[in-house]
Amino acid sequence: MEQVSGEVGAFQVAVRKKARYVNENLCTGCGACAEKCPTMVVDVFNAGLGNRKAIYKYFPQGIPSVFTIDAAACRQLGQGKKCGVCAKVCQAKAVDYDQKDTLIQLEVGAVVIATGYEVFDPSVIPEYGYDRIPNVVTALEFERLLSASGPTAGHLDRPSELALVKEMEEAEKEHKKLQRQVSQLEEKHGKPSSEIVAAFQSGTLPDDADLRNWALLAQDLASLEARLDSMNRRKATASVARKLAFIQCVGSRDFRFNPFCSSYCCMHSVKEAMIAHEHDNGVHSSIFCMDLRAVGRGFEEYKLRGGKQANIRYIRGRVAEITQDEALNPVVWYESTQNRQVVHETFDLVILATACVPSPGAAELARQFQVELDRNGFFKTDPLAPLNTSRPGVFVCGCAQGPMDIPESVAQASSAAARAAEIVAPARQAVG
Ligand SMILES: Cc1cc2nc3c(=O)[nH]c(=O)nc-3n(C[C@H](O)[C@H](O)[C@H](O)COP(=O)(O)OP(=O)(O)OC[C@H]3O[C@@H](n4cnc5c(N)ncnc54)[C@H](O)[C@@H]3O)c2cc1C
Ligand code: SF4
Ligand code: SF4
Repeated sequence: MEQVSGEVGAFQVAVRKKARYVNENLCTGCGACAEKCPTMVVDVFNAGLGNRKAIYKYFPQGIPSVFTIDAAACRQLGQGKKCGVCAKVCQAKAVDYDQKDTLIQLEVGAVVIATGYEVFDPSVIPEYGYDRIPNVVTALEFERLLSASGPTAGHLDRPSELALVKEMEEAEKEHKKLQRQVSQLEEKHGKPSSEIVAAFQSGTLPDDADLRNWALLAQDLASLEARLDSMNRRKATASVARKLAFIQCVGSRDFRFNPFCSSYCCMHSVKEAMIAHEHDNGVHSSIFCMDLRAVGRGFEEYKLRGGKQANIRYIRGRVAEITQDEALNPVVWYESTQNRQVVHETFDLVILATACVPSPGAAELARQFQVELDRNGFFKTDPLAPLNTSRPGVFVCGCAQGPMDIPESVAQASSAAARAAEIVAPARQAVG
């Protein structure tokens, strides 16, 4: 949203529709463009755990089901290079590199703010090692790992192993290149590389730039082969994650960050542990919590079912620190409140249930609408009329108002729509 003026019953709102460089009336969503696009980009929807092409659909079930070009990553639009492959392969002729942003002027009687939330960045908690320990992930990243349409097709491959596979692919490419160069030199001089390396190392190699370069290349090849060997050994012992630890209240109920409870994370951890167990019955989960807030009809029963049927252990205690052992397994240190002892336990993967924090654009949106935010940065509402912001005709629903789960967000959205209709419908009748 760019601009707003007017008042309840007669707002004028300017909304920017960003160029997608694909005509949505022509695109059939077939995906031929993405198949041929040569540019790989880190996939934000998959929490950075996979890649996508520069022409892409933000997520598989997006509506409308049409493609968009990521202009900054695209060779033709953002990199000043020649490409045009997507336009060539698109049979519907939907790709339009000249498309521009458009400003849409709306005349509306009421407005509903539904801009949701952002997940808390756990790297500001150094003791949990999120940015140091590869096998510590956020709950959102874990959702993508669990998803059949995610980067691992639902298999619980650990990020350390995903990184290893990527490293091996790059090392194998480099290996092929070095091997080719070294074989060409062996053919040219009619000698094996071992002779040249031995002479180079003993200081008896003639003073010749070509021979020196050959010796260095052959040494690089040998050390790359040793690295590939060690990576292959690591890969052979790698297994999927089966022993999971969920850490609750990461950035929530913590006066250093957010004093409030994020309300949905206890239940999404139980859900994620249940789904992981459905995928692989060998999965065991431990949920570390101060208390598990199963607030809602049937939630307590769901939690207990997780304990009985899905190998979930509920451990009361706030985790103090996460370290890492030599096999890149995370080690969780906590106080067992039953035994009154500080203990540690090793897991395959740790999942951080991060707090729900205000969306990054909330403050700017509040300034544009001239509505108030609460002390935590969410849109402030009237305690007796919980969808009303401080400005008549501007309503708020879902996590823009504060942490809540999907059913509550949907119920609020319906209520907000009804409140907006109360304003708009009488005006329509008067016009009609
Ligand atoms: C890991 C995880 C798992 C969860 N699992 C569950 C679950 O199983 N069940 C459940 O009930 N709840 C679950 N939740 C909670 C659920 O995500 C929220 O309840 C729900 O997303 C809230 O919906 P919303 O529409 O209010 O906000 P959002 O889903 O955040 O949607 C807001 C939308 O507004 C867009 N937006 C933001 N700012 C602007 C702007 N300025 N202009 C235009 N658009 C904007 C955003 O891009 C976003 O698409 C989970 C949460 C997490 C973190
Ligand atoms: S023009 Fe851009 S989006 Fe299209 S194929 Fe080339 S890099 Fe990909
Ligand atoms: S819902 Fe559970 S995990 Fe989330 S902040 Fe509240 S108590 Fe902590």
